[in-house]
Amino acid sequence: MPRRNGESLRIAVQSNGRLTGYSLELLKDIGLEFEDHERRLFTRCRNFPVELLFLRDDDIPEYVADGVADLGIVGLNVIHEKRAEVDRLVPLGFGFCTLTLAVPANASIRSPSELEGARIATTHPVSLARYLDEEQIGAEIVELAGGAEIAPALDVADAICDLVSTGTTLRIHDLRRIGDVWDSEAWLVASPGLDEGSGRSALVKRLRVRLDGLLTARRLKYVTLNAPREALPRIREILPGMRSPTVVPLADSGMVAVHAAAQEEVFWEAMERLKEAGATEILVLPVEKVMR
Ligand code: ATP
Ligand code: ZN
Repeated sequence: MPRRNGESLRIAVQSNGRLTGYSLELLKDIGLEFEDHERRLFTRCRNFPVELLFLRDDDIPEYVADGVADLGIVGLNVIHEKRAEVDRLVPLGFGFCTLTLAVPANASIRSPSELEGARIATTHPVSLARYLDEEQIGAEIVELAGGAEIAPALDVADAICDLVSTGTTLRIHDLRRIGDVWDSEAWLVASPGLDEGSGRSALVKRLRVRLDGLLTARRLKYVTLNAPREALPRIREILPGMRSPTVVPLADSGMVAVHAAAQEEVFWEAMERLKEAGATEILVLPVEKVMR
């Protein structure tokens, strides 16, 4: 790895896995330009003093905690599991999953409290141990490096504790969910050693402003519609997240055009109600970036 360039930021991202695509897209969307086709261990951004480190996700918390990387993008589950001392900056809205307890579909166990005395296979022993301790369940943890879902079939365990997003893996392996340990999502984390007032912390602040703008934009919709002026109060009831709309009179007397950013997903139901309230030409557009 090249020597650390004093004032540039290092960001650790997963090299090849479920978070990789989302992480790189996010970094590009906040304006960083870099080559990622090979995802070598290390790459430098063309237009910003940022270096990317591509790592196993399991190593990211420690690298960030130690200050080898200043920032990292990693699942909350890994941060819990590694008990890493990192600052959690922002949840990123991807990598959603749940650490779930499951048993073979035909087992008699119905709830986590019935796991007393059971063997539970997991790749998340630290998180599971904490959960069992808190819930005062005396169970045996069978620590595996992967493939927990097949452990019951091999009679290595009576239950599993594994990450699940859609539940398909559980179904394929004929397992039944009996409870959840916690929910996880990808987070931007920072090294606690980052000096306030240093060049690097100024860079982190700049990236955070962009990131906040991007994440806010992803939640925003831009809505335009035409409506009779008297329908405006009703329209605002239907879209409560609409901030100070621009209202422009149209040539047709009594009609106005309304343009506004709405802080909410605008579903078909809301559009139908807008139409009932007298609105026409309703457009709902994605917002790309925001700075306030
Ligand atoms: P690595 O080679 O980097 O160690 P990995 O195999 O440990 O990769 P992935 O399967 O790529 O990890 O998952 C990365 C992260 O994606 C998980 O730590 C978790 O935060 C998140 N995730 C989202 N959905 C799921 C899921 N269904 N199963 C497992 N992880 C998920
Ligand atoms: Zn991993």
